[in-house]
Amino acid sequence: KEVSELIAAGEVIDRPASVIKELLENAIDAGATVITVEIKNGGRTYMRVTDNGKGIAPDDLPTAFLRHATSKISQKDDLDSIMTLGFRGEALASICAVAKVDVMTKRREDSYGTHYSIEGAVEKTSEQCGCPDGTTFVVRDIFYNVPARLKFLKKDTSEANHVADLVTKLTLSHPDVSFKLIRDNKAEIITAGDGKIYSAVYSVYGREFANSMIEVDYTWQGIHVYGYTVKPLSAKPNRKFQNFFVNSRFVKSKACASAIEEAYRNNIMVGKFPACVLYIDVPPNTIDVNVHPTKIEVRFSDERLIHEAVYFAVKNCLMEKDE
Ligand code: ADP
Ligand code: MG
Repeated sequence: KEVSELIAAGEVIDRPASVIKELLENAIDAGATVITVEIKNGGRTYMRVTDNGKGIAPDDLPTAFLRHATSKISQKDDLDSIMTLGFRGEALASICAVAKVDVMTKRREDSYGTHYSIEGAVEKTSEQCGCPDGTTFVVRDIFYNVPARLKFLKKDTSEANHVADLVTKLTLSHPDVSFKLIRDNKAEIITAGDGKIYSAVYSVYGREFANSMIEVDYTWQGIHVYGYTVKPLSAKPNRKFQNFFVNSRFVKSKACASAIEEAYRNNIMVGKFPACVLYIDVPPNTIDVNVHPTKIEVRFSDERLIHEAVYFAVKNCLMEKDE
């Protein structure tokens, strides 16, 4: 059982950034509006995520760490219309199987919080504590019990960059949440959480990017495409700056990438990539998010339709801009 636990955990958790991803998604699902992420040594030795969300009831804490314990899906039908980010109930189980985890959590309605700690999936502490409303997860020594995985981690800088990329994506997909990323005691990303996409983009990509943006807002066959696009910038020379969010979820999508590149085709030199922060809202039943454990890839029931929607949205705004 232990081995199969570790294998299952490895599918979801393969590096510090995947822990941060799951903790951040849980914080957002819990309705947090202020979230702080702190990492040390690329997250290898220390990761902390603090949120001001709804907290976890003391009795629910041990169950939250069990596999398939999710409070977010009650019927099988719900799978067809997933709106929350998490839904498999695997993240906490996987994290506590391969790291040392401490949780401090308090619901607004409770007068005390709870400190719960679990190591290698074994409960160590469960005690009352004083703490602010919301939840703090501290995850230490990832893969301390799986040396083979530890060996595969990259240099601390590279692991930290993965975390920063991830926080960037979530910052852009949730402009209404104020994020802070602290990397080895230094604040690296701070966003206002004022709900404005523009200010979120400004905070993470800087002024040159923000000032070159063209606004996109277009609806095609029930698909709403909005946000910003930017002609290729010398300082941002690759596809890393193409951000697509489908129903608020960051996705990698060939259909979207090729659509924006085609829309720009006549305006740019080959081998240069336009950048974008584009939000694509589609009816939930037209996408399948249940494709990959880390949920970065989605399957559209009609790829061509999505491609057209993105293409026309960008093309239209470029044409209006030219006139
Ligand atoms: P899932 O997100 O798929 O439900 P997880 O393993 O990520 O599964 O989390 C298990 C459960 O723990 C969640 O369903 C939720 O009830 C609770 N939980 C986890 N993190 C938080 C948090 N930051 N705030 C409130 N509840 C949380
Ligand atoms: Mg989750």
